[in-house]
Amino acid sequence: MKLLVTGGAGYVGSVVASQLVEAGHETVVLDNLSKGHRAALPDGARPVEGDLLDEGFVRETLAEGFDGVLHFAALSLVGESVEQPEIYYRNNVCGTLNLLEAMGEAGTGRLVFSSTAAVYGEPEEVPIRESAATLPTNPYGSSKLAVDRLIGAVCGARGLAATSLRYFNVAGAGGRFGEDHHPETHLIPLVLKAAAEGSSVKIFGTDYPTRDGTAVRDYIHVEDLGRAHLLALEAAGPGEHSVYNLGNGAGFSVREVVEAARRVTGKSIDAVEAPRRAGDPPALVASSQKIQADLGWKPEKPELETMISDAWAWMRDHPNGYE
Ligand code: UDP
Repeated sequence: MKLLVTGGAGYVGSVVASQLVEAGHETVVLDNLSKGHRAALPDGARPVEGDLLDEGFVRETLAEGFDGVLHFAALSLVGESVEQPEIYYRNNVCGTLNLLEAMGEAGTGRLVFSSTAAVYGEPEEVPIRESAATLPTNPYGSSKLAVDRLIGAVCGARGLAATSLRYFNVAGAGGRFGEDHHPETHLIPLVLKAAAEGSSVKIFGTDYPTRDGTAVRDYIHVEDLGRAHLLALEAAGPGEHSVYNLGNGAGFSVREVVEAARRVTGKSIDAVEAPRRAGDPPALVASSQKIQADLGWKPEKPELETMISDAWAWMRDHPNGYE
């Protein structure tokens, strides 16, 4: 297929774009390089630099004709979204609206969208199924939920075939593609940075109602997540919007992540207890039964230590990230 990958120079987008090239798809990467990295563009993919908020550019890009779009381009920091909700709605919702309108004009019939566990807010039941209530607790999650709903409406109205993949916590690296955010806010890269530099990492909250008092998250290897996108391309029929959660179904606490990183790196890693981070729910664990049953997806690297050791290897090969 001929495929457009928006945000394909970012962490998950670059891994998926490289998997698409490997699978023999003609792959075009659209990225504004605001968060993505030029060095993260996979060999064999054609880059197109520009912004989804530029309607004319989006229309022109889609007009060359694609069989499908994989849409990663978005802002994704919870804290930033609380401080600057307008920018989050503009980028995530208006950018997707431009994309959907251009896809409609060009007759592009397939979409896979990067959604998020943040649409569920503080779930009543864990593991979280797709039927759980969507009550996001921050503008990042609300903007992604607005897009999920917009996509569902466009599927019904215009016969688009779309799949939303709701990611839990993504970790690890895929070949020469890894995690390089500025600023970095995610637990695993911060723990590994502390290991590399001999500095400390903060544990945000030790009074959660969990087995060791720290927050529990479901970590999924970026390569496993990537493979789900290739399956999702064919998942929905015209007019259908499929929604799948993607995690391992196993949760790890912050302390368990730090312990695993100590084993992987052989470093002592100083962990300092700190207050809870605003907006963090106690436990987010996915039920991925639906995607396993419908699409036959199965994680090949479910072990936390594998994810951490792949991230550690990437970090040691790229001590300054992509710079
Ligand atoms: N966390 C932490 N210290 C850090 C960064 C994160 O204790 O320096 C915790 C955070 O509060 C959350 C978990 O680790 O409970 C995962 O956070 P991350 O930002 O990686 O992902 P999120 O679940 O927020 O998407």
